[in-house]
Amino acid sequence: MIFWDDLESESKPGIALKNNSIKKEIISILSLSGNVTIPDLSKKLVISVPKITALVNELIADSIVSDYGKSTVASGRKPSVYGLVADSGFFLGVDIKHSHINIGLIDLCKNLASTSKHIPYTLTNERHSLDELCNIIKTFIANSAIPGDKIVAMGLNLSGRINSTTGYSYSFFHFNEDPLSVYLEQATGIKTFIENDSRAMAYGEYIAGAAKNEKNVLFLNLDYGIGMGIIINGQLYYGKSGFAGEFGHIPFFDNEIICQCGKKGCLETEASGRALTHLFREKIKSGYASIITKDMAPEDIKLSHIIQAVKDDDVLAIDLIAEIGEKLGKGIATLINLYNPELIVLGGALAETSEYILLPIKSAINKYSLNLVNTDTQIKLSQLNENAGVVGACFLARDRVLEAR
Ligand SMILES: [Zn+2]
Repeated sequence: MIFWDDLESESKPGIALKNNSIKKEIISILSLSGNVTIPDLSKKLVISVPKITALVNELIADSIVSDYGKSTVASGRKPSVYGLVADSGFFLGVDIKHSHINIGLIDLCKNLASTSKHIPYTLTNERHSLDELCNIIKTFIANSAIPGDKIVAMGLNLSGRINSTTGYSYSFFHFNEDPLSVYLEQATGIKTFIENDSRAMAYGEYIAGAAKNEKNVLFLNLDYGIGMGIIINGQLYYGKSGFAGEFGHIPFFDNEIICQCGKKGCLETEASGRALTHLFREKIKSGYASIITKDMAPEDIKLSHIIQAVKDDDVLAIDLIAEIGEKLGKGIATLINLYNPELIVLGGALAETSEYILLPIKSAINKYSLNLVNTDTQIKLSQLNENAGVVGACFLARDRVLEAR
């Protein structure tokens, strides 16, 4: 940690600060391009060979960089190639879901080093929920084989309104005057970046999943709520204060259902996992049959049970997911008309029902969006599924520290 603390420290004399910023650039280039020679680094950074050599030697002394032998591509006198030492630094990703948490770590060379999925947790907007979150993170670190002092930074995803630049979360845990990121930093001892969960999932799919190599992508997080991450020209789009993408809260229905956000008639009120759960329970109470109710009271039915029932060919669950899909598809048709994206990725719990939700969505898109616009748009299911948030959180933390993207 001494190295990483030192690298991040801003209370240093000018020359040391400048050197640190060049070191970050060297690490960033090595992590993007793999192994690189000193002349390559010198050319890319427009900094003299002796200066680069001195800084690379310092990075070697700190065990961040290693000499990986002679270049095989250069002709004549072959220079050495340098690369990162994978286990010299790690980035933690914490993805908070409605009723569980997923945590993972990636190393400096972007390999997923360890994950812990489905840690039981109930997200409520109360102080004890925040305390429990901190304990779960600390326990994960304590039980992991990786020394805590090698964890450079943490990315943490939360639903709701997040300003990732200031580190404030407005929908959850807005108890303190300090930003939530600062509170978490003090509680865990790890530099923390917070991000909206759907945006982090979008980033995960963009780096390592269904949206890899695409530039204009909408990622829809179809879960208890409906979230969206927007990627425009290969960059996450935030809007002025970081709140862009509130697709779930467009006034879509002329109903009297109060949404989580306090308004009524939002898309979420009828086309989300929360709406599906409510609808399912009501149907059961009014006498409909389902394989779920064999050993469960209507009020105990959770979204995960309904998703499983769809996979198990339960007729009621399939009918209701199709209804939700049709409504979502109509909403997505609007997005296609507005954004003309090359790809829409469907993620979150509802997307786990794959074809059962995909087909009604596609059919509604064909029905409601402009033909010329939608022919350019592919619709794909998430590739990372449950891992999207963790992968996104790890990479966002890494890329913010290294300023890599
Ligand atoms: Zn709403």
